[in-house]
Amino acid sequence: MRLKAASVGGCRLLRWLTLGVLVTASTVAAAQDRAVEIHDRLALPATSAKTVALTLDACTGRFDAELVDFLIRNRIPATLFVTKRWLEVNPAGVAVIKAHLDLFDVEDHGENHIPAVIGVGRTVYGIPGSPDVVHLRKEVTEGARAIERYVGVSPHWYRAATARYDTQAEQEIHRLGYGIAGFSVNADEGATLHQTAIENRLKRIQSGDIIIAHMNKPSSDTAEGLSVGLIGLLKQGFVFVRLDQAKLMPSH
Ligand SMILES: [Zn+2]
Repeated sequence: MRLKAASVGGCRLLRWLTLGVLVTASTVAAAQDRAVEIHDRLALPATSAKTVALTLDACTGRFDAELVDFLIRNRIPATLFVTKRWLEVNPAGVAVIKAHLDLFDVEDHGENHIPAVIGVGRTVYGIPGSPDVVHLRKEVTEGARAIERYVGVSPHWYRAATARYDTQAEQEIHRLGYGIAGFSVNADEGATLHQTAIENRLKRIQSGDIIIAHMNKPSSDTAEGLSVGLIGLLKQGFVFVRLDQAKLMPSH
């Protein structure tokens, strides 16, 4: 009986050791595959004026005309990351953007708003990524083609849905010829923040920051919060640049 117990115990020990090795190996693999939110700032000359970049994502959904009209009225340049899905269902918004390409740089947010993680079953915030690299390439290149077709300009920057990337996706996006546009200040948390919270986030802006917010949820507080916050930045003397006029550097 004792021997049997010892043998069972030995088996258990072996099983736990094996499990431990497997868990360790999968932890290492998971760390390599981890989807990372990419953070960037503007690379500015030391002597430059106070400079900031506003980026607005149009994931799916509608057109926040109030927000874009505010930018046009105040001559605030912005970089707009749009998906093919958004372009297809917002002709009025597309027309406004096309009429103001002096202010707006239009860049690639993908074909169908798929996060940049590769592998069957992989998700970011519950949203499925691409099952393989071929699907990732299609997400990037078809997003770009849609911008060329609907807006008439060629994008050079890519921002994936959720702004998170695993290593393989990041490398593939660069291989396709796109820079990955990170950010340093999340102004509206996916258009979920209330007006005062958005205003407070913009009060912390420093020269070189890249702001991310959204232009696809007109019922959110984003237009109201950004309007107040951006006017505050103009009063402080900030100059706004588009990403096609800027160089980026990693920020942590
Ligand atoms: Zn998005």
